[in-house]
Amino acid sequence: HAKQLGRNTFAFYETYMDEKAQHILSIEHDLRNALASNQLSLAYQPQVNAQDGRISAIEALLRWQHPTRGAIPPDDFIPYAEETGAIIPIGRWVLLEACNAAKQLQAEGLPHLKVCVNLSARQFDHPDLIEHIKEALATSGLAPHWLELEITESMLMRDMQYAIDTLNRIKMMGISLAIDDFGTGYSSLSHLKKMPVDLLKVDRSFLHDIPKDKDNIAITSTIIAMARQLGLSVVAEGVETKEQMRFLQDIDCTLMQGFLFSRPIDFETFKAHYKACPFH
Ligand code: C2E
Ligand code: CA
Ligand code: CA
Ligand code: CA
Repeated sequence: HAKQLGRNTFAFYETYMDEKAQHILSIEHDLRNALASNQLSLAYQPQVNAQDGRISAIEALLRWQHPTRGAIPPDDFIPYAEETGAIIPIGRWVLLEACNAAKQLQAEGLPHLKVCVNLSARQFDHPDLIEHIKEALATSGLAPHWLELEITESMLMRDMQYAIDTLNRIKMMGISLAIDDFGTGYSSLSHLKKMPVDLLKVDRSFLHDIPKDKDNIAITSTIIAMARQLGLSVVAEGVETKEQMRFLQDIDCTLMQGFLFSRPIDFETFKAHYKACPFH
């Protein structure tokens, strides 16, 4: 009996692995066409000032509308794009598209906003990164101080000297730098001090169940106090409730981002809202 069960289990496992491998292969294959077939787009989510409620930035978030599978979330395809290197042309396109969007708001006479773009590890390590950033700014005509790049702690910790040099080159261009998902990586405070960044984005896991969760209250307050000491601004991510918002206002968080204010929405929809209500 046990033997038979074992064999069946193995057969099942084999088919399962086979299907999984097939699935990955087809995703990787489809990703190669996604950019050229206009299946990729950017959604935008505003960051609002915690004190006066005004929008001061928008984060660009990648969307893939697959012809048969429908919408595929970035967490489900970016790892493959990283693995295959497809993230390099895709990331280059994201930079240009996001800069064009920020420039278009300006061209329509709306109050200027920063646009925040996520960089992947492979992009950060790529020799053409600086070239691709310059290209996006030159082609769109966006001034560099309206662009912000988001990187994660793990990207900084692998090769600290490379990271510091690269960040300095980006900073010298006049672009802002943010550390994304802050608190989930392993960077120590002494490492952080060496990094020429402007802003920390507190990971949304720390906002969970605030103000009930005392540990999360302690962690979020400590990150914000520390950031202030280091002269950095703080964005709280994943703000979903008024209670979280009030807590963040009380502890002097700089900016807030989350479903409470807006889900990520397509550019035309964002523009229509922003036009109707540019100061909130
Ligand atoms: P992220 O950079 O941390 O982006 C924030 C994620 O949190 C987004 O998920 C956003 O939709 C979600 N979010 C925002 N507010 C709330 C909230 O109040 N509650 C909850 N539960 N979630 C909220 P999304 O768009 O699925 O993106 C997932 C991740 O994919 C991003 O995490 C980022 O790491 C990556 N990503 C997205 N676009 C790009 C891109 O253009 N390039 C690269 N390299 N990575 C990207
Ligand atoms: Ca981000
Ligand atoms: Ca984040
Ligand atoms: Ca993330």
